[in-house]
Amino acid sequence: MSRYTGSVCKLCRTEGEKLYLKGARCYSDKCAFERKPNTPGQQGQGRRRRKVSEYGLQLREKQKVRRIYGLQENKFHKYFKEAERDNGITGEVFLQLLERRLDNVVYRMSLARSRNEARQLVLHGHFEVNGRRVNIPSYIIQENDQINVKEASLKKDIFQEIIEVNSNLTPPEWVTVDLENGAGSVVSMPTREDIQYPVEEHLIVEFYSR
Ligand code: SF4
Repeated sequence: MSRYTGSVCKLCRTEGEKLYLKGARCYSDKCAFERKPNTPGQQGQGRRRRKVSEYGLQLREKQKVRRIYGLQENKFHKYFKEAERDNGITGEVFLQLLERRLDNVVYRMSLARSRNEARQLVLHGHFEVNGRRVNIPSYIIQENDQINVKEASLKKDIFQEIIEVNSNLTPPEWVTVDLENGAGSVVSMPTREDIQYPVEEHLIVEFYSR
């Protein structure tokens, strides 16, 4: 399955809620969902959503979270299977694994404006974890990991723009960030309470348990 390359704002309209895929724009009045919340395409215009079956609800929740993290189905499902093997609560472990991906952590540290941008920046080798270059977006971080933008990269326009745009953001409590210096650390593992977008993970567990 290939990666989705269309308009990400369409995904919010498809899911019927904001998925916050475009960084600061999502919080501004330029947000496409705020201006036009209909389902994309002619069929969505002026039509009410049909009543959704239980399976449909589970599917939509799964698709919503998959789109938030920008993952392809096989990779997304792999995290679920890994969570199932864990002794913890499957839904919570699953969300925690998604949060622990390096691209997500970079985004959470405000070192990128969106997860998609974070993925690109990681892929292009701009980050170090504990002093070593890591260019794998799916790299799973551990407690006490130190993450920083490479010294030479920090001077680039893109990071200067990110620092300026994200300067007033407050990162979650499980990370600390020194934005000016492009550095941060993971002070604890993210918990369920740290995941603040609306998600009913039990629907995803039910979807994959069918
Ligand atoms: Fe979704 Fe953000 Fe686009 Fe709004 S601006 S529709 S929240 S991706």
